[in-house]
Amino acid sequence: MLLTITSTHQPASDLSYLLHKHPDKVHEIEISSGVAHVFYPEVSETRCTACLLLDIDPVALVRRSSGPRGNDFALEQYVNDRPYVASSFMSAAIVKAFSTAMNGRCKDKPELVTIPMPLEVELAAIPVRGGEAVVKELFEPLGYTIHLQRHPVDPKFPEWGESRYFTLRLTNTVTVQQLLSHLYILIPVCDNDKHYWIGQHEIEKLLEKGKDWLPAHPAREFITMRYLKHQRSLATQALEILLKDEVSEDNEEEKEMEPEQKIKVHDLRLQAVRDELVKANAKTVVDLGCGEGKLLRLLLAENQFERILGMDVSYRSLEIAKDKLKLDKLAPKQRERIELIQGSLMYRDHRIGGFDAAALVEVIEHLDEARLATLEKIIFKYAKPVDVVITTPNAEYNRRFPNFEQGQMRHSDHRFEWTRAEFQQWGNRLAEQYNYSVVYKPVGEEDPEVGALTQMAIFTIRS
Ligand code: SAH
Repeated sequence: MLLTITSTHQPASDLSYLLHKHPDKVHEIEISSGVAHVFYPEVSETRCTACLLLDIDPVALVRRSSGPRGNDFALEQYVNDRPYVASSFMSAAIVKAFSTAMNGRCKDKPELVTIPMPLEVELAAIPVRGGEAVVKELFEPLGYTIHLQRHPVDPKFPEWGESRYFTLRLTNTVTVQQLLSHLYILIPVCDNDKHYWIGQHEIEKLLEKGKDWLPAHPAREFITMRYLKHQRSLATQALEILLKDEVSEDNEEEKEMEPEQKIKVHDLRLQAVRDELVKANAKTVVDLGCGEGKLLRLLLAENQFERILGMDVSYRSLEIAKDKLKLDKLAPKQRERIELIQGSLMYRDHRIGGFDAAALVEVIEHLDEARLATLEKIIFKYAKPVDVVITTPNAEYNRRFPNFEQGQMRHSDHRFEWTRAEFQQWGNRLAEQYNYSVVYKPVGEEDPEVGALTQMAIFTIRS
């Protein structure tokens, strides 16, 4: 199976820097199903072609698979198209052979990474379920010019008709990183078959590789469904994450305040939550809806917390958190204490189970009230931390903001803001239903009439 990438960007040989593969050598990369070779059939100042040749071992494929692939005939598991076509094996090889390029890095010429270049790709044989229309639907919105050649089932017997195999040539002016991320996702989507088990991890891969273009792609639902192999629950989960608008925790109320006060408000909340977690004697903590990681930073500073997990639905927030917390620079011992994951509080997720404590700081008000019922179950029924600390705005306090209109909320993404009575009614019902005890505390200075700016509930499981 053959993939070629040709650049006519001048000097064209820059392609070899971007792919991080020297043009004078033949590179051999082992992949789980065989070997991938990278070499350059053509290198000049005006045109440079890199070739990825996949040599799949059909016997190894059978040994690796957990069950028989098909039941049509016994040999099918050995005799099939997989070694000869572009499929998810090709994606696996792309990621392994060109990981530096896919991650947007180029050691020797970093300035090249962001330059869109005239690139041409050829896939010698790719199965496409749905034929030409599907190829167009997938690649045209990304700006590709498509040249397709469909192959007959057997050239000697034209009456047998056309096969689902194509030679596909694509041209576009994009960065090499974009090109590789498009191929990585769209090759298996064309093929509509995947060689490995599809699970939670696949969502992360899809979101990570597609983050810059998939949310705006008109066929994003189709791509997501096929990529996740028609597992509707995974696909809806991925779509929810993809389509989720970015929200930040900077509330409107803060615009009403002096700069020093502004910083204080959110810091105060975070400190209050940290203090509760310390008091609870938690050793392992999960921060649900961790945003840009402000609470995580406070938690890292406390040695009491041996394991800290930050989860958020927003990939971008997590990237910011990673930068702000300087995770790449932490000493290994510190680095081991903290992990960031992308996930949604709307889905049951074993990764957030088994923690001593969970925090939700200014998160619940971002969910539609109707969806709170799901969140409740995810946290109190399934994840079941010993302690849960939740903060949310106290709507009564809004009256104290001079420019607020009646009913106005503090943030455009807030779906509701509760009075103290409403919050406590919700909390008491939860505590009762899931066998927790609960106490409520004000965060910040308490106004005798309207209470404090923020309200906090601390739930503890009854033994
Ligand atoms: N806790 C942080 C961020 C609060 S903003 C802080 O106090 O600094 C609310 C956060 O909740 C955002 O980062 C948003 O991406 C996240 N969020 C919203 N809906 C979510 C969901 N369904 N699952 C997980 N996180 C969600």
